[in-house]
Amino acid sequence: MQRAEPQSFERVLSSMCTEPHPAARETAERFLGTNPGDPGTYETVADLEREAVEHLGTITGLGEPAGYITSGGTEANIQAIRIARNRADTDEPNVVAPEHAHFSFTKAAELLDVELRTAPAIEYRADLDGMAHLADEDTVALVGVAGTTEYGFVDPIPAIADLATDVGALCHVDAAWGGFYLPFTDHQWHFGHADVDTLTIDPHKVGRAAVPAGGVLARTPDLLDELAIDTPYLESRSQVTLTGTRSGAGVASAVAAMDALWRDGYRETYERAMGNAEWLADQLAARGHEVIGPELPLVAADLSVPMTAELRERGWRVSKTGGGEMRVVCMPHVTRSMLRSFVADLDWY
Ligand SMILES: *Cc1c(COP(=O)(O)O)cnc(C)c1O
Repeated sequence: MQRAEPQSFERVLSSMCTEPHPAARETAERFLGTNPGDPGTYETVADLEREAVEHLGTITGLGEPAGYITSGGTEANIQAIRIARNRADTDEPNVVAPEHAHFSFTKAAELLDVELRTAPAIEYRADLDGMAHLADEDTVALVGVAGTTEYGFVDPIPAIADLATDVGALCHVDAAWGGFYLPFTDHQWHFGHADVDTLTIDPHKVGRAAVPAGGVLARTPDLLDELAIDTPYLESRSQVTLTGTRSGAGVASAVAAMDALWRDGYRETYERAMGNAEWLADQLAARGHEVIGPELPLVAADLSVPMTAELRERGWRVSKTGGGEMRVVCMPHVTRSMLRSFVADLDWY
């Protein structure tokens, strides 16, 4: 059998994953055989995980962050909802989120037996009145998305945090994708901007770590302690993570990527990606397409369904929103010359 090779990123415009930073790749390989789930045995990677959380705290405006490196944004969101449920005093917990919240919240709700109430958005952003209307005394968390998966828009996080305080619920921010772009914008999205309790930010997306490396952060250690389970036969006495054995490669590569790129490298990445997104938006608008955004480096436009199918045949990987628009995610591997040949292919049809 021929040796399998991973796909190249040359024509990938649909993914929220990207080429890992060279240092992240090299570090991931060295730490493949380590397990941060057993910190008493794998002390070096356990230390690295504390470093990773410190880094993520710096990026999200939190001086003494509690948290850990998850398998991804899905686990981070599940854990945040679990914290909110465990902490609250109700038999019928519910979570209120905007309709564009990532589908991982549906998984969280099903697993945790929490009702998920979703409010319609206005102009692709969470609508406060709609969310307030759905919240009641059994609401354990309000969710805001800082960089939506489909359109890359940012919800009004400070207002959502205020509403959470009013109803006695936690405020969770999902910045799984946007978290490494947002520090270079004027958006108010993190612990330093609002009374956010928990936050998801994924090094394995824009952070350029190797997969798997997600992140969940909590404002205080007692929130994370809501997840603690006794672990009789490990050297550590309790565990807050969802999975047991975990990827030391993900953890170590997250530190390597953030060491290499925070802060100037990520800033350059953001500026290049945003410039590319704006360029693409202009090109599509000039061809008569209706363009949504870009608010962050993600462009959606009303290209017809057959057109995206033709593009796929030419090797382009583009995806569609639930509303049927074509969606191009300007990840760090997406260059201007890639987008130029993409637009040239569009003109061909
Ligand atoms: C990608 C994404 C997730 C899920 O993260 P995974 O790492 O794929 O589990 C959650 N929320 C948002 C906003 C995302 O973009």
